[in-house]
Amino acid sequence: MSALLEAVDLKKYFTIRGAMGGSRVLKAVDGVSLAIEKGETFGLVGESGCGKTTLGRTMIRLYDVTGGALKFEGNDITKLTGRALSPYRQRMQIIFQDPYSSLNPFMDVEELIAEPLDLREKLGKAERRERIVQMLQKVGMDETALEKYPHEFSGGQRQRVGIARALVVKPEFVLCDEPISALDVSIQAQVVNMLEDLQEEMGLTYLFVAHDLSMVRHISRRIGVMYLGHIVEISPSKELYRSPLHPYTQALLSAIPIPDPKRAKDIKRIALSGDVPSPSKMPKGCPFVTRCPRAMPKCKESAPLLKEVSPGHQVACYLTE
Ligand code: SF4
Repeated sequence: MSALLEAVDLKKYFTIRGAMGGSRVLKAVDGVSLAIEKGETFGLVGESGCGKTTLGRTMIRLYDVTGGALKFEGNDITKLTGRALSPYRQRMQIIFQDPYSSLNPFMDVEELIAEPLDLREKLGKAERRERIVQMLQKVGMDETALEKYPHEFSGGQRQRVGIARALVVKPEFVLCDEPISALDVSIQAQVVNMLEDLQEEMGLTYLFVAHDLSMVRHISRRIGVMYLGHIVEISPSKELYRSPLHPYTQALLSAIPIPDPKRAKDIKRIALSGDVPSPSKMPKGCPFVTRCPRAMPKCKESAPLLKEVSPGHQVACYLTE
C-alpha cells in the first residue's frame, strides 16, 4: 500500500501570551512521523490534551505547520496556501465531534450540505439538489430532511448531517475527530457501521481520533497512541490489544471497562499517578517519565526513539530495546 497522507517530523507549536506580558510556547505536536495508507482507517488515541486533535487538524492543514513536512500522495503540501492549497482542502475533510456546535443553527439541511459543495463546484440548481439528496441517502436520511434545522434532529441525525456535509465534496482523506463520543452509546455503533460502509463505497481513508482505545478497536486497521505531543506506539490494531508494549498503552488498555465481571476480575488495572504535564513544560527525557511506573534513571536523560520491534509495530520505550 502507498501513503496517502504522510507527516515527517511534524511539529505544531502555539505561542501563549500571558495576561501580564511574556509568553510561552506550547508544543502540542512535537516531531510526529506517520504515514497513513490509502483506504485504511488509522486510529489515534490518547488522553485529553495529548495533542491528537491538533495532530489531525495540522495534517489536513487546518493549522499552519510549525516544522517538519506534510505530503499528500508524495506531494509536499507543508507550505501551500491560497489557490495552491485549495484542491487539497477538497480532498481532505473533517467530521467534527459535536454536530450541534459545528452546524450553523440558522441554516437548514439543504443549505448546510450545499455550503461546502458551492465552494468547490459550480452545479446547476437541479444537479446540486440531486447531489445533496444522494448524499443524504448515503447517510440514511431522505429529502424530507432538506428544509429542517439542526435543532429538529436527534444527536445521531445531526451527526449524519455533519457527515453528509463533509463527504458531499467527495474527499479522499477524512479526519474523524471523535465523531461518536458526543453520541448516545446506543447509536455509536450505528454511526461507526455507517462510516465503514461509506469508506468502502467512496474509497475513503480515515484518521479516526478517539480518547479511549475501546472506541477505535473495531474500525481501525492500525492504531497510534499519543502522549504529550509524541506518538509512543503504533501497531496493527489486533496486536496492540493482544500485546501492548508501551507502559502508557498498557495503562490505557487496563482502564477499559470489561462488561463480564468474571473476566474483569482477572484484569490488573494500572493506575497512573499524577496529571499529564503541560506541553509548555515538557519533562526532560521520555515524555512519559513523570508518570511511568517502570521509569529508570536513563529515562530522565533522553527521549527514546520510535523503533520497530516487529513488522508494523513501533514503540518509543527503552524497555523494548
Ligand atoms: Fe517508561 Fe522509561 Fe519506557 Fe519512558 S522510556 S515509557 S519512562 S520505561
